[in-house]
Amino acid sequence: MSDQRVECKNCGKRATPRLWHTGSFFTKKKIEHICPYCGTTMYTTGGGLSAFSYLVILFVVVISLGPVMSVLNPEVGAVRDLKTEIAFSQKQISKYEVEIVALENSIAKEPSPYLLKRVKEFRERRDKFQAQLNELQSELKKHN
Ligand SMILES: [Zn+2]
Repeated sequence: MSDQRVECKNCGKRATPRLWHTGSFFTKKKIEHICPYCGTTMYTTGGGLSAFSYLVILFVVVISLGPVMSVLNPEVGAVRDLKTEIAFSQKQISKYEVEIVALENSIAKEPSPYLLKRVKEFRERRDKFQAQLNELQSELKKHN
């Protein structure tokens, strides 16, 4: 059997280190070699990230790759922006349509120049958004 004794840098005695195992779920088993005379840690072996930690890191990387890929691909980003704008235009159009219907009902009961002016304004705004929506939709078709 070989001599496993090591000279302690702290107390200078030659000793067989006592082993102290540490480690957790996230780290590999680390062994502290402790001097039996003075109790200092002479050296440590092992340690580092556990297999579980590498799995967690891999998982996080894979999860993050999705958004990163869509940012790297401008085509995907452009389509997403178009869809957002289309949704916004559609929302504006339906908002103005509700207003227009309400105004038309009021006008039917009591036609006033003010209400007629307002309904005309709202129709113009709705038409503006409709034109914008048509443009966006034909733009989106080009991407498909
Ligand atoms: Zn020692």
